[in-house]
Amino acid sequence: MAVLGRLLRPRTTTFYTIRTFCSSYSTSSPPSSSEIGVIEPLPAFGKITDGRNVQWVFLGCPGVGKGTYASRLSKLLCVPHIATGDLVRDELSSEGPLSSQLAEIVNQGKLVSDEIIINLLSQRLEAGEAKGESGFILDGFPRTIRQAEILEGVTNIDLVINLKLREEALLAKCLGRRTCSQCGGNYNVACIDIKADDGNPAMYMPPLLPPANCASKLITRSDDTEEVVKERLRVYNEKSRPVEEFYRRRGKLLEFDLPGGIPESWTKLLQLLNLDDHEDTRSAAA
Ligand SMILES: [Zn+2]
Repeated sequence: MAVLGRLLRPRTTTFYTIRTFCSSYSTSSPPSSSEIGVIEPLPAFGKITDGRNVQWVFLGCPGVGKGTYASRLSKLLCVPHIATGDLVRDELSSEGPLSSQLAEIVNQGKLVSDEIIINLLSQRLEAGEAKGESGFILDGFPRTIRQAEILEGVTNIDLVINLKLREEALLAKCLGRRTCSQCGGNYNVACIDIKADDGNPAMYMPPLLPPANCASKLITRSDDTEEVVKERLRVYNEKSRPVEEFYRRRGKLLEFDLPGGIPESWTKLLQLLNLDDHEDTRSAAA
């Protein structure tokens, strides 16, 4: 805890004003400006004028795609993407002092304790600070009210993006995840095609298929079974839903219902954040 406190020292200045982010964003019925709030335009990408970068958090059910969008935003904004799931997996594969304890917890689909997560996060931030990193996008933390309170006590989170997806799509997406055992590339073999029904718009998420040289090397994560995925969702609803409410009450929560696959969702997310992906623009123009 002391380590985290030292690393995440309080910073009072923010680079833009967050007004109200209190109601949900739905692409089928666009909210009015008064419902969704307005983000002041960013002064510049990357370095922020007061010397620090964005300090954002991604929330959402396991498998919703936090990693994908957090990773893209981290590149766009030049801040590290810190995924506590990666920290846990790295520790597991390192055969370090926590690895056997972690293996048991993860294989049962349970949440890793606050102490272990905070320990791993502290180590990661300490290593980053030593390399001159500033700002972060957290993915997978905080997962409990207690973690949120710890974080709130020691640093200033600017914005919390809550990614949302219907449960049937989420389950299909989790069971379709594949990783290339050679290059580590992430793919998804699920084709999600849900018809519109009462109140819910139709949703189409095409599979994200691997290139030919990865296709024969795909593996499924050992914790991506239906039983474990359902257990993760149950635990998320019990422990992490309250975290959404925690940030909603503080006016920091930005709700985002994923409208479909990555290209469509990425474009809509950037619009909502008032950001431009200059690389996308350049490559489209090339
Ligand atoms: Zn590969």
